Amino acid sequence: METSNDAYHRSDSKLENNLDIYLKALNSANSGIIITDNTQPDNPIIYCNKAFETITGYEHNEIIGHNCRFLQSQDRSQPERSILKACIEEGKECRVEIRNYRKNGTLFWNELYVSPVQNDKGEVTHFIGVQNDITDRKRAENDLREEKLSVEKKIQTRTQELIDNQAFLSSIIHTVRESLLVLDANYVVISANTHFLNTFKVSQEDTVGTLLFELGNHQWDIEALKELLIKILPTNNPVIDFEVEHDFPHIGKKVMLLNAYRVEFEGQYKDRILIAIEDITDKTEIDRRKDDFLSIASHELKTPLTTIKGLVQLLQRMPPESASEKYLTTLDKVGTYVDRLNNLITELLDTSKIRSGNIEVHNEPFAIDKTIRDTVESLSLATPNYNIVLSGATEAVILGDELQISQVINNLISNAIKYSPGAEKVDVHVSRVGDFVKVSVIDYGMGISPQDKKKIFERFFRARDIQKKFPGLGIGLYISHEIVANHKGTLWVESEIGKGSTFSFTLPIMKVDK
Ligand code: ADP
Repeated sequence: METSNDAYHRSDSKLENNLDIYLKALNSANSGIIITDNTQPDNPIIYCNKAFETITGYEHNEIIGHNCRFLQSQDRSQPERSILKACIEEGKECRVEIRNYRKNGTLFWNELYVSPVQNDKGEVTHFIGVQNDITDRKRAENDLREEKLSVEKKIQTRTQELIDNQAFLSSIIHTVRESLLVLDANYVVISANTHFLNTFKVSQEDTVGTLLFELGNHQWDIEALKELLIKILPTNNPVIDFEVEHDFPHIGKKVMLLNAYRVEFEGQYKDRILIAIEDITDKTEIDRRKDDFLSIASHELKTPLTTIKGLVQLLQRMPPESASEKYLTTLDKVGTYVDRLNNLITELLDTSKIRSGNIEVHNEPFAIDKTIRDTVESLSLATPNYNIVLSGATEAVILGDELQISQVINNLISNAIKYSPGAEKVDVHVSRVGDFVKVSVIDYGMGISPQDKKKIFERFFRARDIQKKFPGLGIGLYISHEIVANHKGTLWVESEIGKGSTFSFTLPIMKVDK
């Protein structure tokens, strides 16, 4: 029969069993758990689980009986501490993230939950503290915050740089002595620099926001210019040196040189067009006077020279009976030099004629192969030291001025010889390329530098280093280029310094109706 004593013992051991399970459960938790006794002075810790010891590094006996504040070490001015203190005083629960220190002094972030335990009378007798080491999370959060700050700082610096760059560019744009306009993709002016406003005597309000073609009295409304500008954005082909002669409002008749480019500023402003406008009225006027002078001077020189030439020919035809051999050879030399002088003057005259568009063209069909052959033959006779090797044939007929085309070939071969001292050979090659004839003159001489190549077809241009060594006026290539262009062909050069040059030109073949 069971006594009340037995029942007491059984319930006693059941209680112990339960307590044991609870303790084991608390000890296997990952969170640090403590219980403090609020009824004792300074609220000492009366229980801690294993995880609390592991997290803090303190041993059981170093923990029990102490107030939790030892975990804060000297770091006692954290605002979380006051929050914690107030909650404990008021007997409330709270959650804080607080900096704590392990026994070995290392910092760890403690996520601490504190809950009060009340007795039957509602008095707070104990507090239970549950803590988690959230150092890794805090570090990650911190790294993220720093990263964000650094990105923000970079953005700020970059923005400042862009603003500075923009200010810098804008100060350049406003001080350059060239008129500049920026257009959007619809050719509406979005900015005009001070020089533009001053030159054309217009205001910012009249200009910005207006279509380029409607500016002033429609002075830029030029069909050819429109066509070129329309191509800029899709093809990225700039407009180079487009001349506009116009009677501008306020400033009168002027010649303006226009260059236009697509602009892109660090990936921004993609579809913008920058137009640079240079007033070349004075320069054009100087050039015109120079041309007039050249034209008049060569005319004036040509007249007496023709007379001298006639007189020399007269003397050659009727030499005095007593004339010595020396007399005759000297006369021949005079004749040769008069011819050379005559050629030079003719070239000068040609340039001024080309400039003014007054060059006479006698267009007739001619067989280009024969023209080339004849020119090569006569030059071979004049320069026996050079082997001018002609290859290829086209059997093509060209409609053009044979004399002028022969002058082009003559110029190219003469240059090939002149600028390849020491070489013995010049190759001339003719071929058909589609509807065109292509003629190439290949030399193995000094070649042309890339910088010079750009200017070689300009009037009076001569490569700097050759100026003193070789005679010449720098107009042969200019004339040749213009002649070929007038015949609807192109003349160009490929060259490598020290290796030689190849000058080639094309001419359209005359279509024969069958
Ligand atoms: P010129 O021969 O009277 O100087 P050109 O107009 O024929 O005038 O040629 C212009 C310049 O181009 C020359 O001064 C020379 O510098 C360069 N040049 C022309 N042809 C050649 C060539 N075949 N090889 C190297 N340079 C050349």
